[in-house]
Amino acid sequence: MDTILVVNAGSSSVKFQIFAIEGEGRLRRQIKGQMDGIGRRPRLRASAANGDPLADRAYPIEAVSDIPAAMAVAGGWLRDELRISPIAVGHRVVHGGPDYDRPVAIDHGVVSRLERLIALAPLHQPHNLAPIRSLLANFPALPQVACFDTAFHRTHGAVADHYAIPHRLHAEGVRRYGFHGLSYEYIAKTLPQIAPDVGKGRVIVAHLGSGASMCALKGGRSVESTMGFTALDGLPMGTRPGQIDPGVVLYLISEKGMSASNVQNFLYRDCGLKGLSGISNDMRELEASDDPHAALAIEYFVYRIGLNAGMLAAALQGVDAFVFTAGIGENSAGIRRHIGEQLAWLGVTLDPVENSRHAQLISRSDSLIPVYVVPTDEELMIAQHTLSLLLNGPSLNPARERAA
Ligand code: ADP
Repeated sequence: MDTILVVNAGSSSVKFQIFAIEGEGRLRRQIKGQMDGIGRRPRLRASAANGDPLADRAYPIEAVSDIPAAMAVAGGWLRDELRISPIAVGHRVVHGGPDYDRPVAIDHGVVSRLERLIALAPLHQPHNLAPIRSLLANFPALPQVACFDTAFHRTHGAVADHYAIPHRLHAEGVRRYGFHGLSYEYIAKTLPQIAPDVGKGRVIVAHLGSGASMCALKGGRSVESTMGFTALDGLPMGTRPGQIDPGVVLYLISEKGMSASNVQNFLYRDCGLKGLSGISNDMRELEASDDPHAALAIEYFVYRIGLNAGMLAAALQGVDAFVFTAGIGENSAGIRRHIGEQLAWLGVTLDPVENSRHAQLISRSDSLIPVYVVPTDEELMIAQHTLSLLLNGPSLNPARERAA
């Protein structure tokens, strides 16, 4: 059976999934895997869609020293042991810049354009591009598709796309892009099947995982996001502070003598729930703790979600539904309950029983705004985009494109 490989490459891990293409272009997840500890303690783990383990094996550092090597090992395992040779590969790529408002078939020209965006996402873009380049070199005829975290938000109006800074910086790419776009696109596509009227309306979606953001959807299109130029802005996250006065950054530089890379590490790794609680970046640990700092971190998280909901409600000029998704949003009834209380002024009333059993609709029938829990599926979104470009795209064969 034909399959599609979905790749999400980070600094020290490559996550991958295999989807089988069934009749009428339906996709069925077959395998989830990841190569962790690249260049440190490489380990390949994979399981079938039903959770049955398929592999868990360690490799010497020399065998998996970088992302291309990790791709080669994982690809070899799929091919030699499972007899799986995907007919196309979809990649998660964090930044599509100002121009890419949808997924794109990859060729050498696209790779060069995406390389120019490295300055906008230096921590992610190079890792996302590494497997693309190595597959292009080793399998030049294998169709590849880039799916961007920013693309879904390119529908934002000019005002939402700007900071109040001189135009020349906007022109060179300093814009409010927004991220988690593949997750929001999945929710926007799924919502009409759950509640057709709601899908057409004004919806606030809260993607609350280790990264967290919120998106305002109008008629299934993104009109505003809590994230901006980078994935640092907006809500507090596991280890990132979310919205912070730039004056704090200036203080760190001028008074604490921190370099740009110190500040970068601090903002990406030491802040958020971890920094504020001093305990953990994992919401489960904070909820289980009776330390007052853990309680403060949770209260701050919930409070900022409430503030940002007000902002997005203003952008939408009203709210017809609220959706929770991602790790915390899908799994923590306690956090949803607190957020529900924070949104009471909007007319939200949660149903405690439905909320505690993680039902799809968790608000009471008399709630002015229905509240849903919709598990996200960014990998399926990538597989669907890849398949649709494979079936409908102009030419998905980079080798053919080059020859043309
Ligand atoms: P990402 O894909 O960004 O790594 P996820 O969407 O998988 O993140 O979310 C991971 C986070 O979700 C964890 O760090 C944890 O804080 C939170 N989480 C997962 N399950 C639960 C739970 N049952 N209760 C509270 N938080 C949870």
